[in-house]
Amino acid sequence: MPRSNHRPMRTCLGCLRTDARDAMARLVADGRGVRLDDAPAHAPGRGGYLHRREACLDLFARGKEREFRSLRRRLGRAERIALTLALRARLVSGARLE
Ligand SMILES: [Zn+2]
Repeated sequence: MPRSNHRPMRTCLGCLRTDARDAMARLVADGRGVRLDDAPAHAPGRGGYLHRREACLDLFARGKEREFRSLRRRLGRAERIALTLALRARLVSGARLE
């Protein structure tokens, strides 16, 4: 049965499952690189999404290097690890870890 709500859906860059956009953290790719999007409204640029979960951060950080279609760029392991560290720091300081 399809759910009746119409929340926008996105694919997690860690587990690659689809989920509600607001259940995930957003990464944004702009001219300078990829960073966590912590603007209240979405920062301009290509967006990628990641569940706020250790398992998904791990999958994202440790996965093989590949093109991230949603971000339209490749991310090396060092960049991915830096992003997951930033996300973990934010989880500890505020949002609950599921
Ligand atoms: Zn996930």
